[in-house]
Amino acid sequence: MRRAPAFSVRCAEVVPSPCCGESLSVIGSRRRKLFEATGEQKLLVIRRMRCLGCRKIHHELPDCIVPYKRYESACVESVVAPGAGEIAVAADHSTLCRWRSWFRLQTTHLLGCLASIAIRFGLDVAEESSVPSQTAHHRFGRFVGDADGWLGRAVRSVANSNFWVHTRSAFLSEAL
Ligand SMILES: [Zn+2]
Repeated sequence: MRRAPAFSVRCAEVVPSPCCGESLSVIGSRRRKLFEATGEQKLLVIRRMRCLGCRKIHHELPDCIVPYKRYESACVESVVAPGAGEIAVAADHSTLCRWRSWFRLQTTHLLGCLASIAIRFGLDVAEESSVPSQTAHHRFGRFVGDADGWLGRAVRSVANSNFWVHTRSAFLSEAL
């Protein structure tokens, strides 16, 4: 298999540690494979960081990754967004079904987290539309904009704010 060159992931903003809200110091990096829609793999280099409060280790979560998913968040988004016509993701049927049910189960939780984050940081949020047939995509758009990449932005905001519900470190897992 052709090996794609690895590239480093750097989040632009400084995020506080999800455990204590302290600073994070970079202590190294790890590699993580990520599938693109075509089925090609790329290799990401993700920074390992240590919380200066409790010394717990976290991994940086970039927009292109949904925790515990092996495909780019753009792929997941194109599959779970209602009304997405053609699915051009080279993944098997059961994977696509898993993404859809994951999204159905997570939507309410994620939206609740985004609402809390908006309140906590005093962010401006678009008015809720009175149109009842609003798609999930539009409901997320209130918080993170509905341009392409909304799922990655939503998930990253939630994970980096320590709202991600999972038994393991929220920031990023080693699960592949
Ligand atoms: Zn900590």
